[in-house]
Amino acid sequence: MAKLYFHYSTMNAGKSTLLLQASHNYRERGMATYLMTARHDDRVGAGRIGSRIGIGAEADTYGPDDDLFARLEGERDRGPLHCAFVDEAQFLTAAQVWQLARAVDDLGVPVMCYGLRVDFQGRLFPGSATLLALADEMREVRTICHCGKKATMVVRQDAEGRVLTEGAQVQIGGNETYVSLCRRHWRAATGAS
Ligand SMILES: [Zn+2]
Repeated sequence: MAKLYFHYSTMNAGKSTLLLQASHNYRERGMATYLMTARHDDRVGAGRIGSRIGIGAEADTYGPDDDLFARLEGERDRGPLHCAFVDEAQFLTAAQVWQLARAVDDLGVPVMCYGLRVDFQGRLFPGSATLLALADEMREVRTICHCGKKATMVVRQDAEGRVLTEGAQVQIGGNETYVSLCRRHWRAATGAS
């Protein structure tokens, strides 16, 4: 039975590494996988999923207007498709998550999504909110705060390391960096009550 999976975490927990490993496991057994990542993510170049430990794989990209049910249906019609993988799944629109759910139900293709749960202001990304609502299986990818507790939050910092508490949810190509923290240290860093 195909399922819709959501593997979520904060930044730098190794989600892309897990995605690449899972896809590799399928391919090693002779099964066909299809990889997608968000088009505006230029960290590793268009059409590629990379991980901080140095491994990577070619991937198609998706933008907010792409019909992902049609995409997966087309892939399935071209040849065998045993599992689809979606990186940066927080950038999916709500409609696209429904399209992926339909692909699971009507095409019988398992779909594994990997993404951030909340943004630097502690708010759910729309794609993640819909995945939390619709996924058949959810798994938390864990990483830790500097204090050793589980990190569930992320702060955005400018080039000088100052914590930013305002700005667009999605910021690509700037000098900002992100640090994952536990909620207590996130509250201390952002001044949130
Ligand atoms: Zn902490």
